[in-house]
Amino acid sequence: MFHRTFTRAAWLASLGALIASRALAKSVPTGLTGDQMQHLGAVMWQKWQTERGIGQTPQILRVERYLQSICDKLASHLPHAMQFHAHLDCDPAFKSAVAMPGGQVVVGVGILALVDSEDALAMVISHEMAHIEDGDIDEDLAQIEATQHIAPSRLAGLSVDTIMKDHTNEQELAADRNGLIFTVAAGYSPFAAIRLLELFQYMARGKTSRPGALTLDRRIAQLRDLIASNHWDHLKDLIRPLNLPEPA
Ligand SMILES: [Zn+2]
Repeated sequence: MFHRTFTRAAWLASLGALIASRALAKSVPTGLTGDQMQHLGAVMWQKWQTERGIGQTPQILRVERYLQSICDKLASHLPHAMQFHAHLDCDPAFKSAVAMPGGQVVVGVGILALVDSEDALAMVISHEMAHIEDGDIDEDLAQIEATQHIAPSRLAGLSVDTIMKDHTNEQELAADRNGLIFTVAAGYSPFAAIRLLELFQYMARGKTSRPGALTLDRRIAQLRDLIASNHWDHLKDLIRPLNLPEPA
């Protein structure tokens, strides 16, 4: 049996090439400047908090600082320099995360109870950052402007539900793919992402998904292919523990 080993230098070079060779982020004109996009994101996060009755406590701020530290680690490996802002939604039923305009990433407490490593949490955050980096949010905003005949300056007056649109299966697969590339570049293990998706699969057993929905089987298969084609097997045992702050 042939056995191929990658030197660290060769592996880093190949990872750099992989990041550079990603499809370039789509440039979708929204008519908003960078500052206006940041403002829109801040307004949407405010609305999200009001609608969902979220307050801020010292403990929530400590967890947000931890989430932000993971965001910052990942951001330094993204092709475009961007500011990301990590937030916590303390609803235990929110077992996911979402991306908003202006680099806002909201993580639900529900998913913090499911991830078993910082690597898995990094993948959750990285997937959302990839949606932003890939231009998916810009595309949503441009579509709202065009279909609802709304001037860019009036987007901030819309509800969060109007602004936040479901992504297509292709956008979700791209966010998984690019998110995994960013997490590996930041030094995390890609295997944690597979474990998390397998946990979702276990939790969904016996349930039927809606026709046309992206299946967990397909998401897992894509990640396994990416790991195999990039020779990331040696990263299997590098999974590090979750480092949530202790209550004060
Ligand atoms: Zn997504």
